[in-house]
Amino acid sequence: MLVLGIETSCDECSIAVVEDGKTIRSNIVATQIDLHREFDGVVPEIASRLHTEWISSVFRRSLEEAGIAKEDIDVVAVTSRPGLIGSLLVGLSFAKGLAFALGKPLVTVDHIRAHLYAPHLEHSIDYPYLGLLVSGGHTVIGIVREYDSVEVLGTTIDDACGEAFDKVAKHYKMGYPGGVAIDKLAKQGDDSLFSFPDPSLHKGDHRYDVSYSGLKTAVINQITQFSSTPPPYRNEDIAASFQKAAVGMLMKRLRYAIDDTGIRRVVAGGGVVANSRLRRELSELEDVEVIVPSMRLCTDNGAMIAGLGYMMFVNGITSSLAENASSRVAAFRRGYP
Ligand code: ATP
Ligand code: MG
Ligand code: FE
Repeated sequence: MLVLGIETSCDECSIAVVEDGKTIRSNIVATQIDLHREFDGVVPEIASRLHTEWISSVFRRSLEEAGIAKEDIDVVAVTSRPGLIGSLLVGLSFAKGLAFALGKPLVTVDHIRAHLYAPHLEHSIDYPYLGLLVSGGHTVIGIVREYDSVEVLGTTIDDACGEAFDKVAKHYKMGYPGGVAIDKLAKQGDDSLFSFPDPSLHKGDHRYDVSYSGLKTAVINQITQFSSTPPPYRNEDIAASFQKAAVGMLMKRLRYAIDDTGIRRVVAGGGVVANSRLRRELSELEDVEVIVPSMRLCTDNGAMIAGLGYMMFVNGITSSLAENASSRVAAFRRGYP
């Protein structure tokens, strides 16, 4: 069964063809990174206009690379939430038009769940496992019992992890996108030059929660107080010290979750899982099976949408052509679903 996966929730215009929820036949990702760089962040209006301009050619290239005609598509899957509303609507409208014209079913997919499905495209993974979802807008540790069942243990009480990378990089003009820039700088830096506090949330109800707003503020305030010129540190050192704290915060909560639940399988997804320090620290977890997606499946892509769309379809879930997009979802707060 061939599922088309369409992803336009943010600044990646991506369309993939995935066979049986497993084999990636094509996964075209047209990123707008270069066009948002001068603003140091994604400009929603520019993003949706570019999706409108690009989506038809991304679709054609995706079919071409998969070696199929549009009539061969069995199911059209598309991200409908969460994300930038204008960007989401471009993909969703395209998907609806296509499904209607081809007379094929439409499946609308939650982008965050799809990030957690991404590793399944490359590995055969048994349930249950501890899911670690770390992206630009979300940070979640949960018990994943099935493709559609995530029991959230902990999440961020304020900013997402990726958001903190992006904001710290922006403040110190380290480069864009921030996560990639910090990862690169950190390789040349001294991670012991600054030590940043880990907020004490680890009591009772907050045992697995993280807070990145506090870390971001500490990184900005603690360092900005040095006024000597030249300052006694380099951007490389800030990047390394921040990255150590950001990753450490996740690893500490993950360790609690492993020990408390006894689940010794960890599956990670989301853009920040491309981070070299997080990947290394995950791989160093002892007596734990750790599965991370390859780099191209960490950040936004259509293949993960097609993969999860396939799982939903074979379990009888389809959407009507009246389905709408939503910028936010209640998903991944504690107690969901
Ligand atoms: P969400 O998935 O929550 O809706 P998003 O789609 O914008 O948000 P992703 O595409 O999953 O987020 O990931 C983008 C985020 O990943 C950005 O915050 C970016 O800085 C971060 N990121 C990418 N590469 C790295 C890296 N090597 N190290 C740290 N962060 C990274
Ligand atoms: Mg992106
Ligand atoms: Fe994402």
